Amino acid sequence: MCEEKCDVVVVGAGLSGLSAAQLLKKRNDKLKVLVLEAKGRVGGRTLAQQLPAAHGVDTWDMGGQWVGSSQIHVMELIKELGLEIYPQFTEGKKVHHMGGANAKISTYTSSIPSFSPLVLLDFVQFLWRIERLCKTVPVEEPMKMSNALQLDSMTLQSYMDQHIWTRELMEELCLCSRLLFGMEPSQLSFLYFLMYSSAAGGVMRLLETTPGSAQEFKVKGGTQQLSERLAEQLGKQNVHLGTAVTAIWQSEDSVEVKTAVSTITCKAVIVTCPPHMAAQIQYQPALPLERQRLTQCMPVGHMIKFIITYPTAFWKQKGLSGEIVARPSENCPFGVTFDATSPRGSPALVGFIAGAQACCWNSREMEERRDAVVASLAKYLGPEAASYVHYGEKDWSKEEYSGGCPVNVMVPGMLTYYHPGLRKPCGRIHWAGTETATQWCGYLSGAVQAGHRAALEVLAEVCPSTLSKDELQKMRPEVTRAPLHLIKVWNCRSNSSCLLFGLAVTTLTAGTALFWAVPELGRSWIDRALVLFQRQR
Ligand SMILES: Cc1cc2nc3c(=O)[nH]c(=O)nc-3n(C[C@H](O)[C@H](O)[C@H](O)COP(=O)(O)OP(=O)(O)OC[C@H]3O[C@@H](n4cnc5c(N)ncnc54)[C@H](O)[C@@H]3O)c2cc1C
Repeated sequence: MCEEKCDVVVVGAGLSGLSAAQLLKKRNDKLKVLVLEAKGRVGGRTLAQQLPAAHGVDTWDMGGQWVGSSQIHVMELIKELGLEIYPQFTEGKKVHHMGGANAKISTYTSSIPSFSPLVLLDFVQFLWRIERLCKTVPVEEPMKMSNALQLDSMTLQSYMDQHIWTRELMEELCLCSRLLFGMEPSQLSFLYFLMYSSAAGGVMRLLETTPGSAQEFKVKGGTQQLSERLAEQLGKQNVHLGTAVTAIWQSEDSVEVKTAVSTITCKAVIVTCPPHMAAQIQYQPALPLERQRLTQCMPVGHMIKFIITYPTAFWKQKGLSGEIVARPSENCPFGVTFDATSPRGSPALVGFIAGAQACCWNSREMEERRDAVVASLAKYLGPEAASYVHYGEKDWSKEEYSGGCPVNVMVPGMLTYYHPGLRKPCGRIHWAGTETATQWCGYLSGAVQAGHRAALEVLAEVCPSTLSKDELQKMRPEVTRAPLHLIKVWNCRSNSSCLLFGLAVTTLTAGTALFWAVPELGRSWIDRALVLFQRQR
């Protein structure tokens, strides 16, 4: 058993851990920082893979891939590390096959599928409700929302059951939940969903490819390079791969971090692994109950991501964008696909098998999944889909030390009883990882933000002189709380609220009549309004 000493140990060499380590070193180059990573590589939930393509081999992201201009933390890092981004290809018609077993396949070019007037109206009223609620969630302390207890006692599904009128929209939003969380809406707390959306600046930002949204850009060469370049900066000798942390023991004046072969004594630890992985580490003394319960009850999503490469981008030649939104069925494993043609021009599509679909398809042989994917692509894009170059996939539930993806969520009641344990340090142990982020939680950008926040906490403890007055002040919990006066609550007891409500009902009724008469006009108006709304955020 080898013994080592350093100032700070970071557990996990994903984007969060490496961002934390980078900031620690930037602020104080004299600090000895060690990053311990269980896998034999850096990058965690990001992974670049070389796949056979039209002209030899090319690189694709098998994990996190998209970034958006509103994701300031990751965008700054991309720039700093000298990486380039390119936009997600969206030109052409999108294929839509939702709305019950007998639904017809349709195409559309706007950001809203070709819904019937009733479904469109349902969508608008539901989105209006959700976005309004999102604006009132104090992301750092969601339990300060006025009816937080009630909202955290229900699942996203139960809220949808109460407020969605049409079966078609219900199906559509179940698919969104699968793609965002790798989970069914019946599995997560509604308040958690609001907090998560609010951390991104609204629900539509999570779903769209428009400017500022989550699916706006990709990184040339893949997002894993972010971690690789950060690890290079830190120096190979300071990033120990294949080194799983098994125990963290704290005493009065130091911490011991234990692996199978070593014990490292340090002043502070930053744990960045996903919550269910952090729960597998043995802590002495035991962590406070709120932290234990939190990590035990934050389930992780289930997603299988596939890349299929082609000799030509035949969908583009047909005026299609490559985006397919398909209803889950016995025959079609995926919920959505996008164009994934590489910056070097190798044609490809990317798709996701998520939530219940992933549970249903993951026990089958890869060949069976591949054949079903190819058959479905042929159905939606044409027979050319059968002549692919290569099919590659990654089931993240089978990836050691990740155990699922894209994110861990909270089930009902967790925010109510255990949320304070999410970021609150336990002695010398600090918590990072994208799940602890307050901006773009669950995303690459959130991972960076959380890493930086934890690094500042540690600096405040081990070398406070490296922090500005402002940063030191922000460490005080009373400063980080969202000011209560910012929280607006819809209260129909006030006259102005009643008047507004009346106006909204009248507008909706008039709108319904108009959309019914001229559905195309309605769709294009809503589409434009959404783009405007997004730009203003
Ligand atoms: C298929 C997929 C698609 C996604 N799509 C997007 C997207 O398009 N855009 C986006 O922004 N985000 C996306 N994400 C999410 C994004 O990848 C994650 O939010 C981000 O990578 C999380 O970084 P992290 O550092 O917080 O956690 P991780 O990357 O999970 O890093 C944690 C690290 O801790 C290590 N670890 C675990 N246990 C131990 C232990 N005991 N000892 C030592 N090390 C340990 C793990 O091996 C891992 O390397 C996607 C993820 C997946 C998998």
